[in-house]
Order: sequence, then structure tokens, then C-alpha cells
Amino acid sequence: MKYRSTRGTNEETFKKVLFAGLAEDGGLYVPMNWPQIDVNKIDKNISYKDLTKLILYPFVKDFISIIELENIINISYSKQFSSENLVSFKELSDNEILVELFNGPTLAFKDFAMQLLIPLFDHFLEKEKKKINLIVATSGDTGSAAINAVKQSKNISIFCLYPSKRISDFQRRQMSTVTESNIFLCEIDGTFDDCQKIVKDILKDTQYSSENNISAVNSINWARILIQCVYYYYTYINYFDASRPTVNFSVPTGNFGDIYAGYVAYKMGLPINKLIVATNENDILHRFINTGIYQTESVKKTTSPSMDIQIASNFERLLFDIMSQSNEKTASAMNLFEEKGKLTVERQDLNIISNIFASESTHQEDVNKIISNVHEIHSYLIDPHTATGINASRKTNDSDRMNFTLSTAHPVKFSETVEMAVGKNLDLLSNYKDLFSKDEKIHSIQNNTDEVKKFILENKN
Ligand SMILES: *Cc1c(COP(=O)(O)O)cnc(C)c1O
Repeated sequence: MKYRSTRGTNEETFKKVLFAGLAEDGGLYVPMNWPQIDVNKIDKNISYKDLTKLILYPFVKDFISIIELENIINISYSKQFSSENLVSFKELSDNEILVELFNGPTLAFKDFAMQLLIPLFDHFLEKEKKKINLIVATSGDTGSAAINAVKQSKNISIFCLYPSKRISDFQRRQMSTVTESNIFLCEIDGTFDDCQKIVKDILKDTQYSSENNISAVNSINWARILIQCVYYYYTYINYFDASRPTVNFSVPTGNFGDIYAGYVAYKMGLPINKLIVATNENDILHRFINTGIYQTESVKKTTSPSMDIQIASNFERLLFDIMSQSNEKTASAMNLFEEKGKLTVERQDLNIISNIFASESTHQEDVNKIISNVHEIHSYLIDPHTATGINASRKTNDSDRMNFTLSTAHPVKFSETVEMAVGKNLDLLSNYKDLFSKDEKIHSIQNNTDEVKKFILENKN
């Protein structure tokens, strides 16, 4: 499998794509074609690990042998997940199902990709006797997942940028209490979009990033997307029902990474009827799907902070696919967007998008209502991100199909909001006393690319 940038035509290898994150021309890497993986030919009792191997292999076979891949998957996906098959399910009704993706070590879906991605990096670094420095911008959950996965590595240091005061205490402490010497947590006085911009600026400075062996693990990294496709297939197989062959997935969305993974599964042949983009008040994607106008507004701070994002980076990959995979069209649309903060797609392109995507924006009052409603009726707690997903799924009101909502984080990560919504103290944090008694290690850095570059120079591998 070869890859190309959404803004260029060069053919690249998986290795390049894995380590570079962002392409030199500012675009994102995408595969040259979509291999077809026929879900009907997969054994219905396949394990999550075997399914991961089956889906990943066509994309990575130039990089790693099947045996090595199998080893990495078996090791990475064994010790750290609290559920045998990684994913678990909660049935709210016979056609409303929550896909629990929070059984990993940092209690959000980001663990699926990180627990595999970092060992893939290490596999190569070990062989080549190389070391790298990862940078990552986090709206809360990516950072802790990456830090957890990196802390054992002898070959990788990580610089993790998060927006000051815009993540939950639990999320911050999951990062700041990890004190291994290869972990650098950087608090930036700005928003997530500012952090993400710093990361992109550093990657675009190819001289700086190659001299300092910089790589990125944001959801702009193709390998993360690929790894996340697996749970769409797994869910479909687990609930296979020949009488209802096409299904809906509702996905709490920020950077458009997780739902784009659903789109990739769809492109590989998974029978998806609708992918439902669930946003909070930061609704750039919801507005886009309804109007064809992709336009930033200022970021609002909400109780679902992992979705407090205006620039949904992976959106560029969808745009590229819709614009007949034209790198020229994509580059000019994205340049316009970077200049003016706005881009518009043509009617026919929007039609292709609304054929597969639906969307819904859920505001705080409704997030609280959904949390409280699900708790009352099912005695089950959901986190605020998942609540936006459930609301979007219910609004779509498609009772003829299976409706899956990705449950992206464990409610304990957002215990304040959850307890407020159900109107009582649930003592959710009592199992996590440790986290709140440990010392924190944080580096405060100005919202400025040069300052971050300087800090990396002083501390890198
Ligand atoms: C990251 C995250 C999201 C958004 O995922 P994207 O891939 O950025 O769209 C939603 N919910 C939670 C809990 C997250 O951590």
C-alpha cells in the first residue's frame, strides 16, 4: 500500500506516513486506494486482536511482517485493557447500543490507537537504533493516552501541549502525575486550536523537525485513524443481523478523527447507512453538513472539552475524497480556509457528504438531561461526550436499523459534570484517590511556537 498527501502527488510508504504525521506540503496522508474488507467473510467469533491484525495488515505489510504485527497486537492489547475483547457493549434497547471504548488504561477511546501506535514506533526505532521526540496537542484525552503508552519507551520522549484550564482536573492529573524523565507536559496559555497550530507549525518547519527527530501523534496521524476502524467492524460483526444489514453510528466528534475512521470502514465496504456527527456547541461540522459552509467561530468552553475544537483537522481527508481525490482542489480549498477562515463546497459535493453523514449539535442543558435520563432509566452512567452522541442518535430516529453510539470516555473522567447532571454525589473518584494525592509536574509555556521550539531543544532526546 502506498500513500499520498491530500495536497500532493508523491507516493509515500507507511513508514514515512507513520513517522511524519503531517505531509511536508501541509496536507494529510491518505492511502492510494481503499482495500475492500468484506465483513460477511469474517468469522463471526473473531477476537478483537485477530480482527485488528486482519484490518491493519493490508495497510502496513511493506513495513512489518504478519508475525511481528501479531506479536505487537498481542502484547499491546493484552495487559492494559480491562475487557478481554477490549470493547464492551451496553444495550439501552434492542436497537440502541453503546459501544464502550473506555476500557483502556486512561479510560477513553484514544487508548486503542496509542497502545498500538507507540509499540509500532518502538519496533522500528529498536531495529534502527534511533530515538525520536513526539509532539502532541491534546484537548485532554489524547495526551494521557500518549503519555501512558510512551512512559515505558527507551527510544521516545514526548512533549504534550494542552490548553490551560480547558481540560478536567482528572484529565490533567492523568498526565501531570506521570513523572518519568521522557515525559514533558506543557501547559499553553490558549485554546486547543492554538496548541494544534503550534504542532503543525513545528512540523511544517521541516529543517527543525528533521534535525530534532520530531514526529506527531495527533489524530492527523494516519495510523491512528486506521487502528480506530477496527471497532466499527467489530461492533457490526458482534451485532450482525441479516434482517437489518445496514447500521448507523453516532460519534461524538471534535477533530473529525474517530468519525473519519468510520468513513474509512465505510469506504472499505462496511455496510454503514449513516455516520452521525455529534458535536457540542462547537458546531462547525454540524453547520457545514447543513450548509456546505465550513467556517470557524471562536471556541466555546463546554463540559465536553475533548470536543471544544473549531478546526477539525481530519476534515481535510474527507474533503479530498469528496473532491474526486484532487490534490489541487483540496490544496486551494484549504489555503483559502487558512487565509479567510471559511470555505464552501459545491452542491453536488455536499450531496455526496449528506448521503453518508448526518449531524446534530447538543447543548449543555441537553447533555445534562441525557445523562440524567440514562441514569434514571438504565441505572447507568455516561460521560458528557457520549451524551452528545446519544442525543444525536435519538434525533435521527431510525428505528428500522441498529443504532450504535460510540461511548468515548468513562464517566469518571468528567465526574463533576456527571454528578451535577444526576443531582447527587456518587463518590465516583473514590477509586482514584491516588491520582489526587500525587505531585504534579507541569511546564508552563507561552502560546508561541518559538517558545515551544526552544523548550524542546533544551529537553529533547
Ligand atoms: C478525542 C475525543 C473525542 C473526539 O474525537 P475526535 O477524533 O477528535 O473527533 C470525543 N470524545 C472524547 C471523550 C474524546 O477524548
